[in-house]
Amino acid sequence: MTNAFLLLVEALGYFGLMAVLFALRGRIGLGVFMTALAGMHFLETYLASVFYVAAPLGILSPGSTVLFSGKLVMLLLLYMKEDAATVRQPIYGLLVGNLLTLGLVGVLRFHSVEPLPGGAMPDMSFIDDMGWLMAWGTALLFIDAILIILLYEALGRVLRTNLFLRIFVSVAIILTFDQIGFFTVLHLLTDAPWSAFFGGWAGKMAAALVYSMLTLAYLRWFERGELPVPRGVSDVFEALTYRERYNALVEHAGRDALTGLMHRGRFNELGAQAVATSQATGRPLTLLIIDVDHFKSINDHHGHAEGDRVLQTIAATLVNQVGPKDTVFRIGGEEFAVLCPYPHALGRLLGETIRQVICLDDGSAPRCTVSVGVATTGPSVQSLEELFALADRRLYMAKDGGRNRVVGEGPAEGWTGSTAISF
Ligand code: GH3
Ligand code: MG
Ligand code: MG
Repeated sequence: MTNAFLLLVEALGYFGLMAVLFALRGRIGLGVFMTALAGMHFLETYLASVFYVAAPLGILSPGSTVLFSGKLVMLLLLYMKEDAATVRQPIYGLLVGNLLTLGLVGVLRFHSVEPLPGGAMPDMSFIDDMGWLMAWGTALLFIDAILIILLYEALGRVLRTNLFLRIFVSVAIILTFDQIGFFTVLHLLTDAPWSAFFGGWAGKMAAALVYSMLTLAYLRWFERGELPVPRGVSDVFEALTYRERYNALVEHAGRDALTGLMHRGRFNELGAQAVATSQATGRPLTLLIIDVDHFKSINDHHGHAEGDRVLQTIAATLVNQVGPKDTVFRIGGEEFAVLCPYPHALGRLLGETIRQVICLDDGSAPRCTVSVGVATTGPSVQSLEELFALADRRLYMAKDGGRNRVVGEGPAEGWTGSTAISF
């Protein structure tokens, strides 16, 4: 009974201090909370490997029951009130820090150690006790931390209105999973008795209950503001990996600032891929090059800013007109390209629709027209360079023919272009 009471005191002390640090994050920064969280990891692992006490439902370790369970709940709280991008910082930090600890301990063994004045020598055996357990515990924590967030989000769909149950079920399931994973290895390494498995599991369930109630109370009384609506599990997973930001960066880097369309660099890259796919599958690929007619005079008459607005309107029109599998690029000042997986006739039709929609005078912008050159892959057009050169040549035929038109044939089928654009 005394042990149970002491465990409760430890849990209240742990949660109380961590909750205060978390509540103060606006004033002192999240770093204090995260550092405190990480600072307890060593003690937690050490206790879990050697320090067990008898509790009403079996023997357990405060390292697992109080500290480890508490840390998972803290990570969940951090996710609930901040976001996945924030919670992954301690998740990754703990993983890397613990691996570094293990690495350093491995190197420490090679020192020849000097005795202290009293003759005492360091006792490295505790490192042996917890070395593998620490490696395994670290890996498990990483998995647990990600799983608990995914589970919490998944449960949001069914337990949207019952926050307590949502937290408790998430924590209880992950701690059960953790107990199975952690104890199996503990048993293999130290021959820990199975009574410790059930004691530890019961302790973790009690911790899940106490911490869930404390978390709910904390959220009700100390945190204002709604919790975010449940997100798709895949969204969270995206955010937990660095892929999300990397993709955003790549997307942003490949886009033109004025229109938001992909720029010439991306055209070269995606165009080459699309041509290769077309070659491999035998499916057609059509390229439309769209150039604004007499755009210089729009700039001259209405000013450069108005010219910019026209380009934005045209870009939006193109995006609206094309299908979901088509890609639109701004490949030059007033030149656009559309890549679409259609046969030639359909590509020409798309070009004609685009031309007509742009030339409609709705009075909202300076009137303008476009000329379009259309080319499709085939036996004599097998590379992006050839495709581009042919469409470009046809564009200039459209210009020569009086502008405001779509040209999809000539100068001679199979022409591969001696003035091919260099990529
Ligand atoms: P054509 O019918 O032969 O295509 O005539 P054009 O005037 O459209 O052709 P030209 O290539 O001579 O002129 C293109 C103009 O586009 C010149 C350049 O100042 C303008 N331009 C290029 N980029 C931008 C931009 O980002 N914003 C604005 N407002 N104008 C641009
Ligand atoms: Mg031009
Ligand atoms: Mg032009």
